[in-house]
Amino acid sequence: MRVLPLIAGGLLTSLAFALYAHSDHGHQHDHDHHEHDHGHDHGDSLGAHVHGVANLNLVLDGADIAVELDTPADNILGFEYLPTSDADIATAKAAMETLSDADNVISLPADAGCTLDDVTLESPIFTALKKSDDHDHDHKHGDKEHAHNDISAHYHFTCTNPDALSSAEVSLFESFPRTEKVILQAITPSGQQGGELSASNNSITF
Ligand SMILES: [Zn+2]
Repeated sequence: MRVLPLIAGGLLTSLAFALYAHSDHGHQHDHDHHEHDHGHDHGDSLGAHVHGVANLNLVLDGADIAVELDTPADNILGFEYLPTSDADIATAKAAMETLSDADNVISLPADAGCTLDDVTLESPIFTALKKSDDHDHDHKHGDKEHAHNDISAHYHFTCTNPDALSSAEVSLFESFPRTEKVILQAITPSGQQGGELSASNNSITF
């Protein structure tokens, strides 16, 4: 065991040096090293879920426009649990119809001749509606009763006269007034743009 004294001696030397350094230089500790990344990710993948705020991504590529809306369900429905009452089911079904018409989310210049050729709506809430249709009287109160749920809507347009696409207006604020702010990310031939839109500032310039 000849090695042990060397290690012990080394430790003592380090400790003595550390104490010396500390007393000599005062507040020398670097607290940045102790900043672990606590509290931001609780594993529910809803980090950006803030009621009143929605995300809108738009890509304009030639004659094609793809629009993706991601929003807390609360902005659209006024609730986020899986609907079981007749009133909540009716609210969710009406919202699906409203969202299916892209004009209720974004309105493009008529001159551009854009046709909506694809709509996809996704939400655990909408999935639950289909289940309640399938099993009409099977109204279970699931685990997600009190969860935060999102709604996403994808739209694809093809335009006959894309040169006329100078701007678009976000009509979401009017259709769903609980939406206060839209965080926009747009990629257009003129580049990438981002910003915040509101009911009084709802125009996207391409
Ligand atoms: Zn929520």
